Amino acid sequence: MLSEPIKLVSNYRDILNIAYMVSNVCNYKCSYCFDGCNDGTKRFKEDWIKVSDNLIHLLDYYKEHSTKKKFEISLLGGEPTLWKHLPEFCSKLKLHHNVSIMIISNGSRTLDWWKENSKYFDQVVLSLHIQETNIDHFISVADILYENNVVVTGLVMMDPDHWMQCTEAIEQLKTSKHTWAINLQSLEDNSKRKITYTDEQAEFIKVNSLIRRGHWLYLLKNMFKSYYYQKEPIATFSDGNKRKLQSNEAILNDWNHFKGWSCNIGVDRLFINVDGTVSGTCGQLLYGEKYHYNLYDINFKENFCPVIKPVVCQKESCLCVTEVNLTKKKV
Ligand code: SF4
Ligand code: SF4
Repeated sequence: MLSEPIKLVSNYRDILNIAYMVSNVCNYKCSYCFDGCNDGTKRFKEDWIKVSDNLIHLLDYYKEHSTKKKFEISLLGGEPTLWKHLPEFCSKLKLHHNVSIMIISNGSRTLDWWKENSKYFDQVVLSLHIQETNIDHFISVADILYENNVVVTGLVMMDPDHWMQCTEAIEQLKTSKHTWAINLQSLEDNSKRKITYTDEQAEFIKVNSLIRRGHWLYLLKNMFKSYYYQKEPIATFSDGNKRKLQSNEAILNDWNHFKGWSCNIGVDRLFINVDGTVSGTCGQLLYGEKYHYNLYDINFKENFCPVIKPVVCQKESCLCVTEVNLTKKKV
């Protein structure tokens, strides 16, 4: 019988990683968008002061009741830059805590918007959607971010039905004024569209996933702008061997089934869903509680008082790479 991991250890040290889906409103309509991510059913929060107060309370609470001192927050959508309160929201978080803010954006806001607001972001992943993106504009946005000391990565969504345009777009990105990183991303099926790559296309994405590394200045900025922790876990195998796993190795080998294991979701990482639910992307109940806390609870500050501890996984499969790689062990 093949040996399998029985324990994973990643080292987040004093850092709590939070992914927060701020809405599912988007100005693009990509055919491969994840189900529920652009249907506009969950609007941006008008009461941004209340939401930010609640999130700051959550960070205060972790600081007081755990080893966490720094916070890495990714703001996701939909398209997060369409939230008119995004700049104030980020500014307030940074005022209160040691927070590194990352957004994933389609880059469609005007150049003036990016010039004015890039100071609120530490990292921006700009996703290029071949049927929607104006590539000249995309390049200008990435260059503005670079010039404003933001760690920017261009992420080309490789659509097999528009393959030639995608490869041409990559060449066009390489003509940018500054050398930011360019990565390629394969697409996943959704309920409306099945994605099929030819062997050559799959190989191209695999070999070129990081098709352009950033200039050394980009890498230097990266060191200062993002927190470093050991995201790729050390695995202990059933035969006693120990080694580091590649980031998606557990999923590729079907080692991502942890029902009954102890898992550090809630300790090192949180996912705040578009309805405000505080959980993992897996939907697991946290802290050993029988209900989910909710960031939009009007009494969140009074109610959010969990004992921060690992959970016992109740899920059949773990599908988010970040969460697969959290510290966990078979019990
Ligand atoms: S830009 Fe992103 S969120 Fe918007 S439709 Fe495309 S994939 Fe979905
Ligand atoms: S599915 Fe959730 S609880 Fe289970 S291992 Fe993954 S992150 Fe942890």
